[in-house]
Amino acid sequence: MRDQTGRDIDYIRISITDRCNLRCVYCMPEEGLRPLSHEEILTFDEIVTVCTLMAQMGLKKIKVTGGEPLVRRDNDVLIGKLKEIPGIEKVTLTTNGILLKDQMAKLAGAGVDAINISLDTLDEKQYQEVTRSDKLKQVLEGISEALKYPHIPLKINCVPVKTQEENLTALAGFAKEHPIHVRFIEMMPIGYGRQFTFCSEDEIRAVLERAYGPMTPYEGRLGNGPSHYYSLEGFAGKIGFVSSISHKFCEQCNRVRLTAEGFLKTCLQYDTGYDLRAMLRSGCEEDELKAAIGDAILHKPLSHHFLEKKEDSEEEMRAMSQIGG
Ligand code: SAM
Ligand code: SF4
Repeated sequence: MRDQTGRDIDYIRISITDRCNLRCVYCMPEEGLRPLSHEEILTFDEIVTVCTLMAQMGLKKIKVTGGEPLVRRDNDVLIGKLKEIPGIEKVTLTTNGILLKDQMAKLAGAGVDAINISLDTLDEKQYQEVTRSDKLKQVLEGISEALKYPHIPLKINCVPVKTQEENLTALAGFAKEHPIHVRFIEMMPIGYGRQFTFCSEDEIRAVLERAYGPMTPYEGRLGNGPSHYYSLEGFAGKIGFVSSISHKFCEQCNRVRLTAEGFLKTCLQYDTGYDLRAMLRSGCEEDELKAAIGDAILHKPLSHHFLEKKEDSEEEMRAMSQIGG
């Protein structure tokens, strides 16, 4: 699966539900969004069909996301089915961690290859402000449970909303104490994220170096994507950054997305792609589906234009919870 500029696409992020048990301020409104009905979202069989065809075309890695993927019943069954697809090397998960404690054993049993836990702060009051919930304790219990499975790599993803230094150093401290990589992700001006400014990698690095000493670039690769990492002396895990704005990485983009309702999205910022659900449900042939997927990928947008104010009819209007992050 190669696009017109030669980028190889071997990674898909699949939103398996638009529903979520949190209301992070940069992702969803307090009252939530109109949830899709069960008929509107792709069935597990439809997801497996799409992934099987894409694996025949070169797909290797799948990230299960949402909304909150753990609120969809039998998510572990789906993970098990995705793992069985010939050519798929890794099936990983991104979760807010609230239901992780209860579901970790099932996820490990299904063979999940790695888990990313989204956690923006360790401070209860700030957690309440950012997520509009008081479930920090459950997330921390979920992380403790996940640490009981050392063969499953863990990452914490933080999108800093408040730049208080102690918040950043406390989160990074997780990687000091535990074999968990902590990544700081720049807020993207998508959906409800448009009302926030991003906290840049350089600002965060300055804070962390003041607290923990020099950060040395780590050359190895850890995961599917465009993050880069640093080692710190005495740290069990690494510190990573996904700096889509201050260090744009579109040239290396290897991914597409599948929304819960089956739209194959080829760039986070644009509404370009293909309605695969309509094709799947119209009974079209596998070759037609593959041709549509190939065509969507060929015309993948060259890059995002987050920093440009522009009128663009194709610009994404979905919220991040509907896209999958
Ligand atoms: N509910 C799961 C979770 O929070 O991990 C999975 C879905 S969530 C949409 C996936 C990721 O997108 C989370 O790490 C979240 O912090 C991130 N995210 C949401 N809105 C964002 C934005 N505007 N900019 C950058 N990251 C964002
Ligand atoms: Fe839910 Fe994840 Fe969005 Fe937070 S970031 S509201 S946990 S989908």
